[in-house]
Amino acid sequence: MKKAPVNKIIQFSNVDGPGNRTAIFFQGCTFNCMFCHNPETINMCRSCGICVKSCPAGALSTGADGKVSWDSVKCVQCDTCIKLCPHDASPRVTWMSVEEVMQQIKRCAPYIDGITCSGGECTLQAGFMTELFAEATKLGKTCLIDSNGSFDFERDPEVLKNSLGVMLDVKAADRAWSETLISDPGDMVRKNLVFLKGIGKLFEVRTIIFPGRDAENEFTVRYVAEKIGDSCPYKIIRYRPFGVRERYQKLLGEDETDIEYAERYAQLARNLGASKAYVV
Ligand code: SF4
Ligand code: SF4
Repeated sequence: MKKAPVNKIIQFSNVDGPGNRTAIFFQGCTFNCMFCHNPETINMCRSCGICVKSCPAGALSTGADGKVSWDSVKCVQCDTCIKLCPHDASPRVTWMSVEEVMQQIKRCAPYIDGITCSGGECTLQAGFMTELFAEATKLGKTCLIDSNGSFDFERDPEVLKNSLGVMLDVKAADRAWSETLISDPGDMVRKNLVFLKGIGKLFEVRTIIFPGRDAENEFTVRYVAEKIGDSCPYKIIRYRPFGVRERYQKLLGEDETDIEYAERYAQLARNLGASKAYVV
C-alpha cells in the first residue's frame, strides 16, 4: 500500500486556498529557501538521535534498528525537537496511506469545500496525491496543489487531472538571485508558470517582496505579471523574518517588508496587466 510522509494535517484552514479546506502538509522539500518559515519540513529525519534525550515528554525513542520514532500520544507539541534539529528535519512525521488521510478528510467533509496539498513540497508525493485527489473528488471536494514549482507538470500531468490547479511560488525570475534565495536556478518554476497558464491550471501565483531588494523584486514581478496577465490572482507577499532561520535572517535582514513598499510592486504588476495582483 502506497504511503507518504505527512508532517501534519490541518482539518480546517482558510489560508490554503478558497473557502474552508483540509490542508495536508507532506515532509520533504526540493529547495532550501532562505526565508522558509517551516524549515523543519525540508529534510527527512536521519535518526541522528540529537533531539531524543531533550524531549520533555518522553515521546521520542531510538529503536533497536537505530531509527528514531515518535509517539504522537505522549507528544505535548513543545517544538523542542525541531528547534534542536541541526538537519532541518522533524521526528514528528507519520507515514500514512491514502485511506488513512481520507479517513481524516471524511470526518470534516460536511464542513469543507476541498483539500489542499502542501509541504514541504507536496509534488514529491505526486503519485500519492493523484490517488488522494481521485478519492476526494468522489466526495465532491475540490483539490489544490500548493507547489514550489520544481515538479515537471508537463512531463507528468496526471496529478492535475482531479485538481483545480496549482498555487505556484515564483520566488525569483533571475537565475543567480534564484540560486541565492532558494538554492536552485528556478528554470522548472518558470517553465511551469507558462505551461500551467497555457492549460488553465494556474490557480494563483505568489512572490515574496524583500525589503531593499529593489532590482530583484522588480525583475521578478515584471516577469510574472507579463506572463500571467489577468489569468489568475497574483499574491505579493511581504517578507516577514519571524520563524526564518537565524543564519538567513542575517542575510535577508531583520525587518519585515512594509506595506507601502510591497504595494508599489502590486501596482507595478497591475500596470503590466496582472489585474488581480494584491498584497498580503
Ligand atoms: S514536540 Fe518534540 S520535543 Fe516536544 S514533546 Fe513532542 S516530540 Fe517531544
Ligand atoms: S529530527 Fe533531527 S535531531 Fe531529531 S533524530 Fe531526526 S535528524 Fe536527528
